[in-house]
Amino acid sequence: MAGGANDSDIIGIDLGTTNSEVAIIEGGKPTVVREDGEAILPSCVGLDDAGTVIVGQQARNQAAAAPERTVLSIKRLMGSGTQVRMGTDAYSPQEISAFILKALKERADRALGRDVRKAVITVPAYFTDAQRQSTREAGEIAGLTVVRIINEPTAAALSYESGAAGSRTLLVYDLGGGTFDVSVVRIEEGVVEVLATAGDNQLGGDDFDALILERLNTHLETELGLEHAREDRLLQARLRQAAERAKIELSDRPWVRVEEDHVGSVDGEARHLAWELSRADFERDLQPFVDRSLQAVTTALQDAAVRPSQLDRVLLVGGSTRIPRIASVLAERLAQEPHGEVDPDLCVALGAGVQAGIEMGQDMQAVLVDITPYTFGTRAAGELYGEPYAHQFVPLIRRNSKLPATRTEVFYTVFEDQEEVDIKVYQGEDPDALKNVEIGTFLFSGLNRHRDAHGQGLLFTYSLDLDGLLHVHARERATGREIRGVVENALGRSTDEALGAARERVSALWGEAGGESPAAAGDAAAAVPADVARAVEESLARAESALDAAPAEDREEMIDLMEDLRDAVREGRVDQASELRGKLDEILFYLE
Ligand code: AMP
Repeated sequence: MAGGANDSDIIGIDLGTTNSEVAIIEGGKPTVVREDGEAILPSCVGLDDAGTVIVGQQARNQAAAAPERTVLSIKRLMGSGTQVRMGTDAYSPQEISAFILKALKERADRALGRDVRKAVITVPAYFTDAQRQSTREAGEIAGLTVVRIINEPTAAALSYESGAAGSRTLLVYDLGGGTFDVSVVRIEEGVVEVLATAGDNQLGGDDFDALILERLNTHLETELGLEHAREDRLLQARLRQAAERAKIELSDRPWVRVEEDHVGSVDGEARHLAWELSRADFERDLQPFVDRSLQAVTTALQDAAVRPSQLDRVLLVGGSTRIPRIASVLAERLAQEPHGEVDPDLCVALGAGVQAGIEMGQDMQAVLVDITPYTFGTRAAGELYGEPYAHQFVPLIRRNSKLPATRTEVFYTVFEDQEEVDIKVYQGEDPDALKNVEIGTFLFSGLNRHRDAHGQGLLFTYSLDLDGLLHVHARERATGREIRGVVENALGRSTDEALGAARERVSALWGEAGGESPAAAGDAAAAVPADVARAVEESLARAESALDAAPAEDREEMIDLMEDLRDAVREGRVDQASELRGKLDEILFYLE
């Protein structure tokens, strides 16, 4: 390297299962090195036609065509002692990882103009000593002294919290391409400790691609008559890539169109693919995975003996957390909006960079990015607390989103001959739009009623920029007609007083009832043992006080459970009372 060796430089490396990144320290801040604009280096190693080692995208591109000389996901084998074949030779996992580390080191060398010798490398919190030792060896084979191995959730926490005073408890939800883990982390005077980790190292974005691929294959078979599509390896590789692109697009749009020419032929006639997938359908497929991941969240919290209400922050890490459903279920379950503003793909590398800076003796601060402190949305006919309601708040840009932010949602007219729609823009967090602050309204008239009756819908796009300008764009899908509007100073508006005033105004208009007084649980409690009755009373009292702050879905379930529980006690059904109380307590665990 031109500038020669430098012993004071330390780099931070996220050595991932699917992707890896490297961060350098510049001006006291970590920066992820980009080459040709790309920060991510696919964790893929191969030999090209000439037998030369290739790393990254080039190796990944040949993976489908030349699997015998390409190695993917080597991280899964670290510490196992197994060897992998690449071309004619066998290699240890440390050696394969060393090729990736070397490529990252050289990126850093080029960016700094010096030969870097030291690194901080991250590993999953669940890695054993043998796996950590193998990672250290891989670094050494690549010519790097590994000054520290740190846990990935620790790195994520450092990227958000470095420099923060006092004690903080965080939940790090990391959903990448092929692995999922959730960790509860405590930071005390700058020292980070992983209290508990749970997860599934075979769950990730690849599974979500497979869900879309399955739908594509079914379409090819049933609609295009391509019965042997699944046996065509190259076609499958092409469709898998199309599926991943579609999945990524669905994170910003309510549906996606997948088009691929020449996917096969029937009786000598070429078949082309043109197919649409809605976010709603994708989310339905996703639900079992989401449920599994929530199970892991519960396990990690229980193992750490931390209640959701004790969490200071929830962090989103890993590319797959860009799927909006993930953030929304976590927000519901943990009763706080999770943070994903530090790029979820780069957050671990940036945190490794923060640690590298600390090792270099620098005073490192958290990675700062601009976020919106409010949620922006609109109103639509929907449900509130299980009842039909005309002013349901539908968030588009959620609180804590990184700026600039853009999101599109689809809406449908309510009446068959509806000719216009009033697009209201609200700022706030309440599921009832009327309890939030209305900051703008735009009229979209002259709608093409006939077409919309077929469910084509209107697309609303909100774009919020760093200057607080909220651009609202609505397009009628059937005709392409559109309107545009701007709400100025969207970020400046909402003071607590304004929100409070809006709430009071609405409560007054609503004539909010004081609430029925809860039926006493003890009336006929003589029929159940005293300890059960006492426990039930205690759960009911806790539920009463948690009810107001509970998310709509939970509230409904809680009310049902509370009623059933009172009935069970009154009628002396002891077993059922205990079972119902267990269910209620489970919900309360998340709310308190
Ligand atoms: P990671 O291993 O953290 O780099 O995450 C990679 C995974 O994130 C891959 O499965 C990607 O397809 C997925 N991913 C990246 N961006 C998005 C996005 N915007 N929406 C959904 N998944 C994404």
